[in-house]
Order: sequence, then C-alpha cells, then structure tokens
Amino acid sequence: MLRIERNPQPEFWDGLKKFKNYNELDNTDEGKKMRSLIREYLIKEQKGICAYCCRSIDNKSSLNEHIKPRDSFDNHSLDYDNIVASCTQSDTCSAAKGNEYSQKFVSPLDDDVENHFALAPNGMIICLTEKAEYTCELLNLNSHNLTQVRKAVIDVCKMYGEDIEDIIKYYLYKDNGDYQAYADAIKYYCDHSEIR
Ligand SMILES: [Zn+2]
Repeated sequence: MLRIERNPQPEFWDGLKKFKNYNELDNTDEGKKMRSLIREYLIKEQKGICAYCCRSIDNKSSLNEHIKPRDSFDNHSLDYDNIVASCTQSDTCSAAKGNEYSQKFVSPLDDDVENHFALAPNGMIICLTEKAEYTCELLNLNSHNLTQVRKAVIDVCKMYGEDIEDIIKYYLYKDNGDYQAYADAIKYYCDHSEIR
C-alpha cells in the first residue's frame, strides 16, 4: 500500500452538499454523474492505481470505496477524506473488506501508512505492526495472485541492477505520469537495499 497524497478538496465536491448521503446519489441522474466524477477524480489523484493493492485501475475497473463503510458511517459517506478509488477484484480490496472496519485499519491516507508494511523478495507483504496484520488480512493483500505479481515486479527491478535512478526514471511511472501497476513494490525496492 502506498500513501495517497491528497489534493485539497476539489471544488466540485460542493455539489454533494444537496445530497443526504452517498446512497442518495443512486436516485438521480445528477447523483450518478457525481459518483462517476468522484471516481474519475480519485483515480487521477491516485495516479491510476488501486488505493489498496496498487494494481492499475480505470473508470470501468474501479469503484468509490468508503474507508469507514457507508452502512455504519452514514454521516461520513460523502466525506472527501473517507473515499478512495479501489479495484473491483472479487477476492481482495473493497470486495474482501465489505462492511468491516475497526480503528486498527491502516488507511492509505494515513501519514505513516508505509511504516506498517515491508516487502519480502518473494512478493509477500510483511506486516510490521498489529494494525498491518489486521489490514493485510482484511484486504487479502497476500493473495496468491498479488504475491506472484509483486514477485514479478521485483524481478523486473532486479534486471535494472543497482541503478535505482533508472528504475524511477523508466519503470515507476507510465508515459502519462501515472504509476506503473504495483508501484508499491517498485518503490519499496528502490527505497530498501535489503530486498535487492
Ligand atoms: Zn485493489
């Protein structure tokens, strides 16, 4: 998981004031448009990757994910700092999390999010704290598939050898400035010599 650097709340968010809660957006065309606008904005802010697993997402393969679930935190369901864009994979991230939430959850909006997790050369996420363990299990971030792809990303990084600047220049970002898929693994590789 990478820390999401948030912009100030965008102006269009003011248009949400007329709605009571997020569920109400489903009832009107304007609401549905706002939902799509939110998603588009958040994907851009997250540089094209899922807030949790860091796979590449676009408008079709993502959803607006409420960190504090909207069912139990109705009054926070339209808060800018409670919504991120998540992938729609059925076994991880938003789908795995469902309506679960506790204070132990590590959010990608937390300043210290990256201090909770480490990465092993085999692609497994290592949980450094109790909060990390709770979060990693809840989101199923060590699924077989995610572990395999992170391992593949680490192997690509290794092909660059010790030239970390080249990895940052040629691999971490796509041509359009978005992150490459699994940028969390790429960044971890660049920042931590013990994995190389
Ligand atoms: Zn995801």
